[in-house]
Amino acid sequence: MKHLHDVIIVGSGASGSVIAHELTQSGADVLMLEAGRRFSAATFPDNELDANAQLMWNGGMDASRDASTLFIRGKVVGGGTIINQCLLDRFDDIALDSWRHQTRMDFFSSDQMALHYDAVESHLALHHMAPSDWNTNAELYVKGFESKGYGWAPLRRGQRDCGSGNDCMTCLGGCPRASKQSMLETFLPKAENNGLRIESECTVREVVHGPSFVTVCGYQRGQPITRYARKVVLASGALGTTELLLRSRLQDRLPALGQGFYCHPQWMTVALFNDRVDSHKGAFQTVKSDEPRFRAAGFKLENVFAGPIAIGLLKPGYGLDHQRFMRQYRNMACIEVAVRDQGAGTLRLTRRDRLEIDKPLSDVDRQTADHGNRVVVDLFQTLGAKEVVTSPLQIGLHLMGGCHIGQNAGDSVVNEHFQVHGLPNMYIADSSIFPNAPGINPSLTIMALSQRAAQHILRDCGATVVQQQPHGVSA
Ligand SMILES: Cc1cc2nc3c(=O)[nH]c(=O)nc-3n(C[C@H](O)[C@H](O)[C@H](O)COP(=O)(O)OP(=O)(O)OC[C@H]3O[C@@H](n4cnc5c(N)ncnc54)[C@H](O)[C@@H]3O)c2cc1C
Repeated sequence: MKHLHDVIIVGSGASGSVIAHELTQSGADVLMLEAGRRFSAATFPDNELDANAQLMWNGGMDASRDASTLFIRGKVVGGGTIINQCLLDRFDDIALDSWRHQTRMDFFSSDQMALHYDAVESHLALHHMAPSDWNTNAELYVKGFESKGYGWAPLRRGQRDCGSGNDCMTCLGGCPRASKQSMLETFLPKAENNGLRIESECTVREVVHGPSFVTVCGYQRGQPITRYARKVVLASGALGTTELLLRSRLQDRLPALGQGFYCHPQWMTVALFNDRVDSHKGAFQTVKSDEPRFRAAGFKLENVFAGPIAIGLLKPGYGLDHQRFMRQYRNMACIEVAVRDQGAGTLRLTRRDRLEIDKPLSDVDRQTADHGNRVVVDLFQTLGAKEVVTSPLQIGLHLMGGCHIGQNAGDSVVNEHFQVHGLPNMYIADSSIFPNAPGINPSLTIMALSQRAAQHILRDCGATVVQQQPHGVSA
């Protein structure tokens, strides 16, 4: 006799973990399947190379079809929240109004979303970065902004107690201090206390939707597995969830599947100074642009840096010239331009059964990027940099769309109850449902939407799952 779970969740990132917490809190029997391995603060890799190899899909080297953009996404229990910076911003009216306009869904408003933001924030320790947190890279950023009259603001980060003297760049390979508010430190342990079971290193390949239950098939450490549940939640991220629906041969029923992929493409500019900057020291990111002119133009400027492997990738060239550049690692400051991209990409499976990400840069997005990069170069020149290098490499960290939310099956994949159109036992609330690029850090909104989606799932499940104690159901 097969065990029939109430809900199977595929993916343990920002979306899956919040949904798991909400459902198990109400007594549902929930199984979570995650392709990545499980690490903890004590076992995260302690160097950049191993972190890329062990915590990311394809070693952090997923490339677009024309190889112009590198996409980075987590493959680990906790998903992207293990390798991200945990900057947690609510969407502004510009982003929510555009979503409401596009989807004709009224809950995309500051008032209604506030309920969900409040609910998820109540589980997170949030820290507003103060000047005492700044490193020299941040000091240069603020000095440059003030000399040009650009608005800036402190970042808000999910962290509990980073202590002093911490070099936070290691945190991008998993926080060794159990401070960063990843899912592993927040929603997942609470859900596990309520009975959530997680199967890691389990890659789901196909979901088969039936009228009374869903069959989920995949591989765990090389062995085929099949699991069953009344409902399934796909929370595998923009690329993972879209790929899973494509593999499940739902393209004909869902013509919009794979359309509308966005990534907030980013470009890093490195400036070399005569004096030490030591951007790798101290808190990694502490300030952000808060400039209405940049928001209107469609970009923001980020106070960032990167490990030596990533910095090495940014600089074109070989040999002595590259070596001379890398020798100055400690003298580098860095600012990144992130574009609110308007040109949508497409996700599809090739004839060789591989996910293809077609995301050429549109002319408008190229112009926006050029505008932002010119501002950065000008800032660094004003600050007295001896050399400024804007990397041609495009990076996509905020992967969004592919299954976007909307009213009709003809032009969207998920309805306002987060159900896949025409498949009432299948739900999605992860970054794949974004209808366009907000131009704002996405993960808090993914969590907020997932909290809302969980309420719909519980309502749709009725008395079956709204119970006080975890329980199992056998078919
Ligand atoms: C370096 C970096 C820095 C970032 N910084 C920030 C930041 O500061 N603030 C912010 O808001 N956002 C940031 N982001 C983006 C943010 O982390 C993501 O937008 C967010 O994690 C997406 O949530 P999700 O639930 O949609 O997917 P994810 O968190 O990516 O979770 C999806 C999970 O599903 C798993 N999965 C995929 N396919 C399958 C399958 N077939 N079977 C089983 N499991 C599968 C994956 O392994 C993954 O664990 C950053 C991202 C990166 C890479």
